[in-house]
Amino acid sequence: MTGSHPVYLDYNASTPIKPAAVAAMTELLGRVGNASSVHGFGRQARRAVETAREQVAALVGAKPAQVVFTASGTEANNLALRGFPDRRVLVSAIEHESVLRAAPDAPRIPVTADGVVELAALEALLVEAGCPALVSVMLANNETGVVQPIAEIAALAHRHGALVHCDAVQAPGRLALDLTALGVDLLTVSSHKCGGPQGAAALVARRDPVALLVGGGQERGRRAGTENVAALAGFGVAAELAHAELAEAPSIARLRDALEARVRALSNRAVVIGAGQTRLPNTSCLALPGAKAETQVMALDLAGIAVSAGSACSSGKVAASHVLAAMGLPRRVAGAAIRISLGWASRDGDVDRFVAAWGALAARPARPVA
Ligand code: PLP
Repeated sequence: MTGSHPVYLDYNASTPIKPAAVAAMTELLGRVGNASSVHGFGRQARRAVETAREQVAALVGAKPAQVVFTASGTEANNLALRGFPDRRVLVSAIEHESVLRAAPDAPRIPVTADGVVELAALEALLVEAGCPALVSVMLANNETGVVQPIAEIAALAHRHGALVHCDAVQAPGRLALDLTALGVDLLTVSSHKCGGPQGAAALVARRDPVALLVGGGQERGRRAGTENVAALAGFGVAAELAHAELAEAPSIARLRDALEARVRALSNRAVVIGAGQTRLPNTSCLALPGAKAETQVMALDLAGIAVSAGSACSSGKVAASHVLAAMGLPRRVAGAAIRISLGWASRDGDVDRFVAAWGALAARPARPVA
């Protein structure tokens, strides 16, 4: 890394934890108590868990009893998709792997070239299913930031008797979240994507899933296992702060828009994927045809700037992102796409550093992206 401090522009992978969440956790880590124990130590732990449940419920406009705590967004997605075994599962083609791999045989709902779920195709799949379905569509895509018309999707699915799950992991602090307005039956949120610690998440469930983990009957029989009290307390504080963070969304969007305008001014090779769509305020999926995504990520890392590739590495081979492939983007664009994601601690100076390093990359001779 070069001289000055490293710049973190990978909030969609994991956000920096907020100091108030650390403080809440630190206090609880110093205390003993299993939240299921009846004695005073146990009751104190239980109070911390229930406070967190209320904070997470408030974040999404749900009732505390609807919040099922899990250890990750991945687990919450698995619980939603595998928790209704009698239903035919339908998932969008751009879901996170934790949805796609939890339902490997589920028909994929296609998306438009702009990355938005095709409602007519969803309707056809609902008719074809011939039995009660469970539809899973994310609120905002983690690679492109493109926001899905979830309320419309939920209304359509409900007309066909389906349940609707929405992976809203990328939304807290960036989009208003309300279970009733979205009209979904199941919603996933994850602590480390909104200023809380890793290892805590929730499935907010208006309909109870069959538990994946059985044992001591915690989480009202929906997810067994001793609660991670400190992590849940940190998640609760982060959930509360995510509400307030929404007020910052326009200034984050201004930073992101400035970044995109500046790279476009530097090179006419720049392609902003999903630019015409409603997107998360913090996310930019930026392709530089003629420069492989992994080369860009490594060069930026050497310059002290952390971003992600829009491509995934599998068995040593870099495969095009399934999201960009589902949008039908040509390989020369999809294979040259990186994701820049900003957040609560991002500053103008971070964008300046990125633009300078990206400009150096764009000045290199273009090579074909195989
Ligand atoms: N869903 C989306 C859209 C994500 O971006 C991620 C993480 O990248 C997950 C689910 C998984 O969440 P977790 O990291 O808490 O398992």
